[in-house]
Amino acid sequence: MKTDDLRDAYLDFFSEKGCVRRPSDVLVPNDPTVLFTPAGMNQFKNQFLGIGQLEFSKATTCQKCLRTGDISNVGVTAYHHTFFEMLGNFSFGDYFKKEAIHWAWEFLTTKKWLGLDPDRLTVTVYLDDDEAFNIWEKEIGLDPKQISREDEYENFWPAGAPTDGPDGVCGPCSEIYYHPPGGGKCVEIWNLVFTQFNRVGSPPDNLRPLPMKNIDTGMGLERTASTLQGVESNFEIDTLKPLCETVGEVLGSKYTYAGEHGRAMRRIADHVRAVTMCVHENVLPDNKEQGYVVRQLLRRAVLESYLIGKQEPVLHTLVPKVVEMLSKPYPELKETTQSVQEAIREEESAFLDTIERGLNRFNKCLDNAKSSGVIPGEEAFHLHTTDGFLYELTEALAAKHNLKVDRSGFETLMEEHGIISNAGKQKSVMAEGPLDAIRKTSGNTEFLGYDSTEATANVV
Ligand code: ATP
Ligand code: MG
Ligand code: MG
Ligand code: MG
Repeated sequence: MKTDDLRDAYLDFFSEKGCVRRPSDVLVPNDPTVLFTPAGMNQFKNQFLGIGQLEFSKATTCQKCLRTGDISNVGVTAYHHTFFEMLGNFSFGDYFKKEAIHWAWEFLTTKKWLGLDPDRLTVTVYLDDDEAFNIWEKEIGLDPKQISREDEYENFWPAGAPTDGPDGVCGPCSEIYYHPPGGGKCVEIWNLVFTQFNRVGSPPDNLRPLPMKNIDTGMGLERTASTLQGVESNFEIDTLKPLCETVGEVLGSKYTYAGEHGRAMRRIADHVRAVTMCVHENVLPDNKEQGYVVRQLLRRAVLESYLIGKQEPVLHTLVPKVVEMLSKPYPELKETTQSVQEAIREEESAFLDTIERGLNRFNKCLDNAKSSGVIPGEEAFHLHTTDGFLYELTEALAAKHNLKVDRSGFETLMEEHGIISNAGKQKSVMAEGPLDAIRKTSGNTEFLGYDSTEATANVV
């Protein structure tokens, strides 16, 4: 089944179940708690919290998502992207656990829909969620060996909620895994979250049943397409492999999955795809917040291509292929192809101007850092402010050589030069679960950018 057909099938299936089909929200939502939309539920936050009038009580979407927290997984696992699409079905006090599980199973396994072999699927439930366990075992007919019970860090949202999670709306979840033939690694394809409690204080008796029980599910489009297409990685599906091959053509080195530059080319494909989607929404490379993420993704891709041997700006020429691959669900991408290409070309050229100097500096650091195992904060500072090697890029490069970077030394210098203030250090949140968009920024921070000041004016 083609990826475009899978998207349609999912939305058709849940429409037949009475869910209202809603368009994807934008990637950069009007929501101060997240930089990018991390999951399908984000646009329904108010409905989940019971705020405002409900126009409908169940919905289905295919949501454009971006998780910068997964950047280091890209090209390492077979199934993490930064930009990806999440299929979802949602209930706001309407259907609950029984229907959510039955419908997920029906969609995955019946011939009319995906027709996956039930023996290749396993599920997890939360430790004491006997209700979900029994539905899977007694109603669906799964062998108990196919069901495992996981703790609150794996199968509860937000993670740790019954014992040490934050107060508020929460619930157990049940995840569905696919085990490919040939003994390959199993892949999580779908997470069903049962939002049924309000957590107040510490255990015991801290989980109060909510009057309105909700369902929030997220199924990875690319992951499920890859199981249906029988390929060994998300990057081999019909909407991503041609892009990886175009990366190869552009870099003058044929792309093959296991080839010398396979991983690097997958990362380039992923990052340019994500950047295209962001710039299309007018998020341009910048020194702060979303723009910093875009700059980061693009510079990482430029560095990968430079190291493969391409010293001139070429990544912008991938944009038409990205658009072609995503034009069925997002035909509006065609309207901005030109301007997106131009914005990417400018950023590529600017970084290429300083890249060689940066690499020289970095390579010198490598020699010096061999004994200590740490790249000094001062070097990271120079790389960041004068050579365009954003801190995280240096960190990723260092990790390839099993070295760390002295982050606090780097931050001290950034403060001394007035580039960041202490308060502005840790800015935003990167969500991990489908419901994480509700999670407040506290306790879940990841560095995502520095405020732009004159001192960073040369970081372009
Ligand atoms: P994983 O444990 O594999 O990182 P997750 O538990 O973080 O996944 P959820 O937050 O439960 O993922 O998101 C719901 C679904 O979205 C997942 O079951 C998966 O199919 C898909 N998904 C999550 N993260 C990614 C990603 N970075 N790239 C592609 N698909 C993803
Ligand atoms: Mg998971
Ligand atoms: Mg999950
Ligand atoms: Mg994850």
